[in-house]
Amino acid sequence: MIRVLVWNEFYHEKNHEKVREVYPNGIHNAIADFLRCDDITVRTATLDDENCGITKEVLDETDVLIWWGHMKHGEVSSEATELVKQAVLDGMGAVFLHSAHHSKPFRALLGTNCNLTWRESGDSEVLWVTEPAHPITQGIDRFFTLPNEETYGEPFTIPTPDKILFLGSYSGGEAFRSGCLFERGNGKIFYFQPGHETFPTFYDKNVQTVIRNAVRYLAPTCRVHVDCPHVRLISSDKPYVI
Ligand code: ZN
Repeated sequence: MIRVLVWNEFYHEKNHEKVREVYPNGIHNAIADFLRCDDITVRTATLDDENCGITKEVLDETDVLIWWGHMKHGEVSSEATELVKQAVLDGMGAVFLHSAHHSKPFRALLGTNCNLTWRESGDSEVLWVTEPAHPITQGIDRFFTLPNEETYGEPFTIPTPDKILFLGSYSGGEAFRSGCLFERGNGKIFYFQPGHETFPTFYDKNVQTVIRNAVRYLAPTCRVHVDCPHVRLISSDKPYVI
């Protein structure tokens, strides 16, 4: 079984009627609902939980973390940020959705400010598959269309991704690296751009397929904490690690 934790700041859904209409139980539960299946178990956590719902114990029992945040990035503690970063470095998978490009864990893992160009005008978006043989793009045609999304545009100030799996193009003219893979330490990270809170993006079957594929691809085969030991000569009769 792959153990997923879906983290959502869960602010818009409680404070904006338009968002509540689209996601009455919160974005985290919408994602959890389509992910739960024979080989995936799902828990959720939100900013309102103690320690933002992020503890070492919780992450030790998480194979893949999914993160959605927007307005409250600053309220995620440094401790939670460091715990997520270390878990990824040890091997946990992480999916950062939409406005999580500015979340503290994403920026901590990538090391740049992760800025982008944006506009809320309800453009339609075409997501083009750039890696048709990659596990995350299986079940997706050459492209798929979302009738409305928030427009994200280049430049996107991330480090060069290890792979770009999707390019987004918008009816307003912008283009964006909408699906990006990174490796950090022993862990894999997938950034996926769709998911603006006022649009029903997480009910889209193609979006659901991509996120489900990503969970299976990012799940670690093992987790190893790599430390920095002080050692003796190999020829010593004492234990190698001091
Ligand atoms: Zn948005």
